[in-house]
Amino acid sequence: MNHRTVLRAEVVADIYAGPNCDQVKNLFRAHADGDMDESIDSADIVLKCKELPPGTIIEVRYPACPACGLARLDTLDASKKIIGHASKCECSFDWDKWAQDKYS
Ligand SMILES: [Zn+2]
Repeated sequence: MNHRTVLRAEVVADIYAGPNCDQVKNLFRAHADGDMDESIDSADIVLKCKELPPGTIIEVRYPACPACGLARLDTLDASKKIIGHASKCECSFDWDKWAQDKYS
């Protein structure tokens, strides 16, 4: 069974967020199949099973470290809820600097 991408979203960093333009805020930037340059920015994406056909695949891909290939690690609280992401890779690659450079 082949699949066709009908919606794609990337988490982008708005590095000029906040009243003083000095805060970082993550947003989904979504593109739907057939939209040429249209994109929609939103804080959350809600997926409802009843709105998707059987066989739909949801995939989440984290950026991989360009030096060692590890995915960026989640930072978890005591209840295993994701509260952030590691600033540096285990090999010392600087994820925060990478995001700053990519989205500035
Ligand atoms: Zn690494």
